[in-house]
Order: sequence, then C-alpha cells, then structure tokens
Amino acid sequence: MRVISTIAEMQGFAREVRARGKSMALVPTMGALHEGHLSLVRQAKRQCDVIVVSIFVNPKQFDSAEDLARYPRNLEKDVELLRSFKVDAAFAPDVPGLYPQGFSASVDEGELAVPLEGASRPGHFRGVATVVVKLFNIVKPDVAYFGQKDFQQAQVIRHLVEDLNLEVRLVICPTVREPDGVAVSSRNASLNDKERRAARALFRSLRLAEELAHSGESDARKVLVEMRKLFAAEPGVQLEYATIVEPSALQPVERLAPGCVALVAARAGPARLIDNLILGPPGTSPETLLQLAISSQPVVGTHAMIPGFETEAVRLRVASCRHCAAISSIQLPPREYLSAYVKMHYPDLAVPRVAIIGRDAPATSDMYLYRNPQGHNRFFDRLFELVGVKNLAEFKTRFVLADAVRCHASGPHVPENALAYCAEHLRAELKLFPNLESVVILGHDAYLQFQRFLLERAPANIRPFDELLKMDGWAREDARISSLGERLLHIFYCYHPTFGYHRSPSIAQWLG
Ligand code: AMP
Repeated sequence: MRVISTIAEMQGFAREVRARGKSMALVPTMGALHEGHLSLVRQAKRQCDVIVVSIFVNPKQFDSAEDLARYPRNLEKDVELLRSFKVDAAFAPDVPGLYPQGFSASVDEGELAVPLEGASRPGHFRGVATVVVKLFNIVKPDVAYFGQKDFQQAQVIRHLVEDLNLEVRLVICPTVREPDGVAVSSRNASLNDKERRAARALFRSLRLAEELAHSGESDARKVLVEMRKLFAAEPGVQLEYATIVEPSALQPVERLAPGCVALVAARAGPARLIDNLILGPPGTSPETLLQLAISSQPVVGTHAMIPGFETEAVRLRVASCRHCAAISSIQLPPREYLSAYVKMHYPDLAVPRVAIIGRDAPATSDMYLYRNPQGHNRFFDRLFELVGVKNLAEFKTRFVLADAVRCHASGPHVPENALAYCAEHLRAELKLFPNLESVVILGHDAYLQFQRFLLERAPANIRPFDELLKMDGWAREDARISSLGERLLHIFYCYHPTFGYHRSPSIAQWLG
C-alpha cells in the first residue's frame, strides 16, 4: 500500500492507474477509521480494481476551533488498518498541502445544504463541498463511496456531481451500527459510559418512528411528537432537531411515505451526534431502503397496501435519475466498472464484429463475465452456447458484451427516461468498436431499450417481444442506426439466456 501525502504524488499515482485501464475508487474520510468507514472500503473493493482512501481532517467543515482540535486523529493506526485491508493507497495530505497560503476559492454547496445540518452548522457543507471537489479533481476516481450515516451530505454531494457535471459515480452504503443500535462514529470515542448509554436515544427515537409508521401512523407530526417525548425522558442527551423529510429536497413531510427519512441531531456530553433512518415497508433491506430514498421521486401514489405506505412507491423508481443520477445503489456495480473491464479485454477495439446487448445481471461483481474469465455461471454458459463459442478467449475474437439496462432498477418496470439515460451509455459503448456489423439483443428489457432509443421507434410501432419471437425463438432485422453514423447493422433478437422460461436456439450460424 502506498501512503501518499502530496497532491503531486497522488495525481501521478492516479494517472498510472488510469493508464492501466483500471477502475478506481475513492473513499473520502477524516480518519480515526472504524467499521463504518471499513464498510465503504469493502464495498469499493467489491466494485473497483484500485482503492484509494483519503484521510484528511478538513478544517473548513468545522464550525468551531474547539471541535476541530478535539476531533480524534490517529494516522498511524489508520494506515495499519488500511494496509491490512489491502487498500492500494492512503492519501493523507496535510492542511497547507490542500489549502496553501492564499487559498480562497470555495464551492457553493447548493440548496440542499440549507436545512438541517446546514442550519445548525453554518459553513459546514461549503467546507465539505470544497474538499470533496478538490479530492475528486486530484484523484479523479471512477466511483466515490459515502455513508448513509451522513444522509444530507450524500445528497449535497450528489447534487454537486450532477450540477457541476463531475465525472464520478457515487455509491452510498447503509449505516453501520453498534450492537445496541448506536451508529458507529469517530465522535462516540469522546463519550463516557453514561453519555454513551444516553446516546442510544437517537436510534431508539428513529426506531420508534419506524414502528409507528409500520403500525399505520402516517401523520408525521404525531410521530415527531412521540420522538421528542422519548428525548425529553432522556436527560443525558439534548435534542437539536428531529424531523422527517422527503429525501430529494429534504423538506419536512406531513404524511409518511416510503423513502421518507427521519433524521435526528443531539448532543451527548461533548459530542454532537447525528443519525437517520429511511422509512419503508416492514422487512425492507437497508440497501433497498437506500435505493428507495436516493432514487425515488416524491411519492404521489394513492393505493395503500401497508397502512401508511402507498404501494405505487414501494416499487423502485428511478424516474428522477439524471444520467443515471450520477449515483448508484450498492446492489449493482456501477457501469464505469464494466466499461473499464471491457476496455482492458479489447486492446484492439477494431476486433469485435458483433455486440451482444443484454444484462449480464451478476449477483455480485465478481461474477461479471469480463472480471471472471475462467468462471462459469448460467449466463456465460448459455450465452456462449447461443453464439457458438467455447470460452471467453474465443468469445473475444468476435464478440463484445455491452450492457443494456444498467440503471439502479434491475426490475422489469424500468421507467422510460431511465432507459433513455442508460441508452446514452450504450451508444457510447457501441461507438468504441468501429467494425461492428451485427448486434444480438438479449431479452425484453434490452429489446425495448434498443427499439425505442437506438432504432428511435415510437412505442406504438414496437412489436411485442413475445409475438416477434414466438415463431422461431429468435428474430432478425437489418436497420440503420442514426446515432452510430447511419451504420447498417444486422440485428438479432433472442430471449435472455437466464431470465424467463423461454430459450432461443443457437444463432451461431447466422453470425458469420
Ligand atoms: P467521516 O470520516 O466521519 O467524514 O466519514 C467518512 C465517510 O464514512 C462518510 O461518507 C460517512 O458517511 C461514512 N460513515 C461514517 N460513519 C459511518 C457509519 N456508521 N456507517 C456508514 N458509513 C459511515
């Protein structure tokens, strides 16, 4: 593991990584590393090749000199821990390194930074925005990892990335908690036993909100009254705020809906603690709740399946996703990750003549075709059978696998505009390969996306997929694609090798 303290060295390291065609993750931290940070590192390792963890106690995001002085620091221990995790680089610049004399610029933190923490800690998010943009510019990661623990921070950064067109994908990971429910935090270390016990009130109040929601209460005001009562009964903590907001604009809601976020901030002894919980139907996993909150539109459905929750919204919706929302859930590996692998496998992009377009749909990123050349799973095996090759090495002499729908939604009901955004990636990937003559479209989702956004057909003119395939189990047409310079392509439509009940016969003989 490299321990890097200067910007120039970090930039050099990042340049080398990019030149090798590897995907790079950045996990920004303020050090004093704990399980919360390590969960981000683990997720980054699952999804990217090279992991950089930055450690920098950013003075600009502290609103009091006392708080800054008190913040725990232990670089040596952090470095040892990251070494044991086989992280590739720890980037630990010093303050004059990042903010040399005369430094005066700052990044405007935007509207989402106004309420909640923004109101309680003036200047905090401006400091966060400034340092995060600097780190992104220095490291230029493909993917950056943040914790749900700082929900507002994640949303502020997400907007920065979208509004300033920063080329980085964000992945937000669920909050890691101690056995008693208290969110793991560097600040917990400053609590004595009594304060630490009192700190449980934060999570208990959030759980109370969740229980009330699950029992059918949908009036946010009533839920907040109960949460505040809980704090009032715990003299060891002083509540600063308790609120329930809708996740995209962070504005208080009157009625609870899936994806709403309950947030609390309170003081316990010397520490100011924050925590949050995303509300959703009982039994929903933390990952799915996050996905709901970071990718759903405000809920407007009317049909109540679970008391207090509208069914419509329980379906994951990505309608608000702008260019894949620059954000990914932790369930699906980011698309850049796949693109980096594709590029690595095709040093000569002129080789492939046929693009296969369809979801690789790995359960974990280790199962990606290009990441696991020796691997076997239903998808690879049946895909190879369909196109008539024995293994990945042979596959690569003629074919490339591009991914179609790679939004955070993997279900069958991907909204139209999400398909459109993903189609932009698809066009960009197809353009990489100058000699494509044919494409093979796998499955219904990819079919709809291809027909609608690459062949630019109106929905009324798209034949139902099953009807098209029912005769032979596959179908063919030749068409020109305007976004690929009017190139004429032979297009083969097949069932997805692993989804659904139908299988297409091998089309190897038609692929030349
Ligand atoms: P910090 O060092 O406190 O600035 O945190 C660095 C990153 O770790 C931020 O993205 C935090 O949201 C994340 N993080 C901190 N605590 C936790 C936790 N308990 N669970 C998940 N992520 C966390």
